[in-house]
Amino acid sequence: MSEQYAYLRGQFVPLEQATISVRTHAFLYGTAVFEGLKAYWLPESEQMGVFRLSEHYARLMNSCRILRLRSPLGHQEMCDLTLDLIRRNQCTSATYIRPIVYKSDLRIGPILTVKDTRDDFCLFTVPMDGYLDTTKGLHVGVSAWRRLDDNAIPARAKVNGAYVNTALAKTDGYLSGYDDVVTLTNEGHVAEGSAMNLFLVRDNQLITSSITENILEGITRDTIVELATKELGLKVVSRPIDRTELYIADEAFFVGTATEVAAITQFDHRYLGDGKVGKITQQLQDLFSKAIHGLLPQYSHWITRV
Ligand code: PMP
Repeated sequence: MSEQYAYLRGQFVPLEQATISVRTHAFLYGTAVFEGLKAYWLPESEQMGVFRLSEHYARLMNSCRILRLRSPLGHQEMCDLTLDLIRRNQCTSATYIRPIVYKSDLRIGPILTVKDTRDDFCLFTVPMDGYLDTTKGLHVGVSAWRRLDDNAIPARAKVNGAYVNTALAKTDGYLSGYDDVVTLTNEGHVAEGSAMNLFLVRDNQLITSSITENILEGITRDTIVELATKELGLKVVSRPIDRTELYIADEAFFVGTATEVAAITQFDHRYLGDGKVGKITQQLQDLFSKAIHGLLPQYSHWITRV
């Protein structure tokens, strides 16, 4: 691999020099927001393409607003830097991109806004093929950890510190033998997976938790809604989901930037349908894979070519 760079404090630096002080506010209090984007090799035009670049940075700006962070860069500058970094790092296969806006003050005390507080932007890339195994069906458990609430730490913002909730749920699920978990809201409704949104299929209809159920407003979720309605003519309902609906679903799958589309064949030791990867799940996996690799001309606006 060629020498890898990251962007930190206003410039590109070799990755191993992209370090921050132990006194950094974001390290002390988790006061940072981030995004996870993916770029793919586009076989037809033989170049890299970033999937839904603009939407990811729009969400990052919203996360900044919620956490009172002032990004030193605007939306377009962040988009441009991302393309620049992919070029510099000479990426030629699936690559995960992590931008972060963080409280860079060296300061004790959690308050977000005191005079002269400083926020910084950093960016790095890592090669990423499979985050979860999308070739087989996953066995997913309902976590005993509840999803954080909008009035505690909002799941709508991608706050670094909020991923302690994710880490607890995912790790305990993993140690109990599950491939991943879903978390419930304090009301007991299904929120989402550890770092992915969830869809159920019941009677040829897609069901996904509404955005007021303490979920991240996923960009892959949005992509899947569009593909399912426009390409497969399916009805998609966004509403609160009860736990026991998981057990009687015909099919289920996770969606997310890192995860892509991953089939679920068991919840809490109960098989779904015939226990195999569902037909609609497979169709959406296939459509999504084509979309991210630039093979669906009608969705070429989702891809920013590097
Ligand atoms: N929920 C959570 C908690 C996540 O971390 C992610 C990953 N960003 C998702 C859902 C999926 O969102 P997206 O499709 O925008 O990556």
